[in-house]
Amino acid sequence: MPKHAVIILGAPGAGKGTQAELLVRRHGFLNFDTGRYLESTVHSPQADSDPILKRERRLFDTGKLCTPSFVLKIVKNETKKLASLDASIVYSGSPRSVYEAFGDKKTTGLMHTLVESYGKKNITTVLLKVPAAASISRNSQRRICAVCGLQVLANVKHPRCPLCDGTTRTRTLDDPKVIEKRLKEYAERTEPILKEMKKRGFRIVPIDGTPLPYKVSAVIDKKLKFK
Ligand SMILES: [Zn+2]
Repeated sequence: MPKHAVIILGAPGAGKGTQAELLVRRHGFLNFDTGRYLESTVHSPQADSDPILKRERRLFDTGKLCTPSFVLKIVKNETKKLASLDASIVYSGSPRSVYEAFGDKKTTGLMHTLVESYGKKNITTVLLKVPAAASISRNSQRRICAVCGLQVLANVKHPRCPLCDGTTRTRTLDDPKVIEKRLKEYAERTEPILKEMKKRGFRIVPIDGTPLPYKVSAVIDKKLKFK
């Protein structure tokens, strides 16, 4: 399999993180989980004394998108590091806006970095489609391990982490009021990326994100010809 860059887009709760994790486990992809990276950055001990990180933490914890220029810089830097490892890469949570995808007059976007590192024909965007109601219920039931960050599926009634037996917790992000805000931000700021991608000739593969994760994963394999 040639080196591939896969961008997973979809509303909060569409299953982006889970599908990215499956590409990691089943096909050896590296995953850049922007949300998790940002969460740990803005909640790091240094953030208490850094006015920029404090500002970003406030945005993050209330369900708003972090400042685009702040996020884009981080994502491009991490992408260059990961691309140098010569492995396929999957994004669950980037890009989040047209600016993060394509930049502006002053700076290039993530797509530019990906084209340079992987070549345009090896970049695929998987669009996971789920109805809004499913998205809300999945988010409000989501738990993650407080120790290792592993996500526990909403339909698994498991109070401990299946990997490390740590306790699980909900995320500030998954509070119902915050979810509503995130869905709105997705529709207004993230969805327009798709139109721009089409216009610029990037490949988009829409997939039904409603079935159980292993079934969705099989469809992704088939459509992207990963075997
Ligand atoms: Zn754990």
